[in-house]
Amino acid sequence: MRTALVCGAGGFIGSHLVRRLKTEGFWVRGVDLKQPEYSTSAADDFVRGDLRDPLLCRDIADRRFDEVYQLAADMGGAGFIFTGENDADIMHNSATINLNMLDAMKRAGIARVFYSSSACIYPERNQEDPDNPNCAEDSAYPAAPDSEYGWEKLFSERLFLAYARNHGMDVHIARYHNIFGPEGTWRGGREKAPAALCRKVAEAAEGGTVEIWGDGRQTRSFLFIDECLEGTTRLMRSEVSGPVNIGSDEMISINDLARMIAGFSGKRIDIRNIDGPTGVRGRNSDNRLIRASLGWAPGRPLAEGMRKTYDWIVSQLALAA
Ligand code: NAD
Repeated sequence: MRTALVCGAGGFIGSHLVRRLKTEGFWVRGVDLKQPEYSTSAADDFVRGDLRDPLLCRDIADRRFDEVYQLAADMGGAGFIFTGENDADIMHNSATINLNMLDAMKRAGIARVFYSSSACIYPERNQEDPDNPNCAEDSAYPAAPDSEYGWEKLFSERLFLAYARNHGMDVHIARYHNIFGPEGTWRGGREKAPAALCRKVAEAAEGGTVEIWGDGRQTRSFLFIDECLEGTTRLMRSEVSGPVNIGSDEMISINDLARMIAGFSGKRIDIRNIDGPTGVRGRNSDNRLIRASLGWAPGRPLAEGMRKTYDWIVSQLALAA
């Protein structure tokens, strides 16, 4: 039986990935500080523990897993990453996890490893025009990410690639672009734009107002979780090391995203743009490399996944009421 280790298995992407690997027939060990918030983990073995502890990392990497997915990171949406208040934790915690896990995997003789980097590594200078951002993989250097979260990801990309060079590891790195879907964080300060907007729209009364951070003309693309997992497993099982973008290239402004979600609600809703952390002006996934190297790229329409996410958040609000 094939075996997989998922670090960050209590998180949004990790908990979905565990479920997918189970349907593919893997024996799966998940590790996280916490259990998934909205469902029971599908992992055969779920270890609650802190990956900043090198001894825990050695304990969980106790066999030659066929696949290891390193998704654990101290992360959140703009309200967490761009305020500056969490910078030291973000850098220290995530870098420590990556350093520990690579050392543990090297000791265990584990070969095939996936690392989730982020579109946040791309230089701010290429993302000032909301209509024409440049996020081609080879535009990452000279490096100038707009957050410490992005700098840590860039460092860790290099760390994984160094282990590949020096210790023969079979490393696969994705730069995820705004992954969303059911069972993602939707309140509490770490939620990202799609979930936050779904919640705000769902909570608004007919004729009410929804507040959007910034002027709302900043653009992004958003990838539904199912396609993220498809890209992740395809990349993991390919000969491609990357880093490769895994994202949608259907770019939309944040105000238009709010309008799309308001459309699902059937309510008449006004938008008020207010001051708030926003990040770069424009970002879109450049999918030329993934298409050329994997012969595949995400293609489902944004509205399809957004509607599922909106319906899920409405159901969560009903449960909370
Ligand atoms: P998430 O926050 O839901 O999951 C991360 C998990 O890591 C959490 O469950 C958290 O408890 C766990 N974790 C943090 N510190 C830990 C520690 N010390 N020990 C053990 N577990 C720890 O985030 P996600 O959206 O599922 O993202 C997964 C990965 O993908 C992260 O590395 C993230 O940076 C990356 N990524 C995500 C997106 C996105 O849009 N969701 C975009 C770019 C990159």
